[in-house]
Amino acid sequence: MKKVMVVFPHPDDESFACGGTLAKCRDASQMTCLVCVTSGCKGRTGPFEIDCGEKLARHREQELERAAEVLGIDRLDLFRYPDGSLVQTNFDELVGRIRETIVQWKPDVVVTFPPDGVTGHPDHIVTCKATTRAVELAEEVLSAKEYPDLYYVSIPHYYDHCPDRGPQPAVPITGKVDITSYRLQKGEALRAHQSQSYSVNRAYPGVIDGDFGVIGCYEYYTLIRSGGKRVEPLPSETEIPVIEL
Ligand SMILES: [Zn+2]
Repeated sequence: MKKVMVVFPHPDDESFACGGTLAKCRDASQMTCLVCVTSGCKGRTGPFEIDCGEKLARHREQELERAAEVLGIDRLDLFRYPDGSLVQTNFDELVGRIRETIVQWKPDVVVTFPPDGVTGHPDHIVTCKATTRAVELAEEVLSAKEYPDLYYVSIPHYYDHCPDRGPQPAVPITGKVDITSYRLQKGEALRAHQSQSYSVNRAYPGVIDGDFGVIGCYEYYTLIRSGGKRVEPLPSETEIPVIEL
């Protein structure tokens, strides 16, 4: 049975970036694991006024648990690092925790943000670096057939509905997963993050209110490491090929 592990810094990143893919994996009887590095206590809240960081963190964990249920995620690991300050955290310790999960759970596929973090958020960028390093270090103790493929996930449509723009994409997209039949789950998972209605509305207007029309049929990936070696991603000359993770 194939195992897919995703590593993200905040509750809701998983639904934004690859909610449809996770629901699809589950439907294909693949096992899924979500590592959430912080509890999102600094997340910009919508209708909620939760000023205590601790209280907000618990609230966001509950929303994440609901989203994980919608997406059929088998294993949810909460690392509970402080939100918004991963750059100040002990990098090697964070790498060690992700590496430990990889060595213990032995995923076939690991997914995280690309080096630009999609949005340029420093927590996203640190999570990319730490996960990439963790995969490299895990390979030192895994057997060659256990080496996971590492993918970066991109959200090319993230800024379609906002006035501002994110950073230039750091890597070309090399594959897209067809999530046409899983748009409903992605929408419901995004909706589980009610406290984040501000950010959900920015990228997916209407979804918080149950209108999933804006959710596209694909989620986008870059294969960056496979078989223990870095893969040099090349931009596709024609259409981005459809892949399965
Ligand atoms: Zn995030």
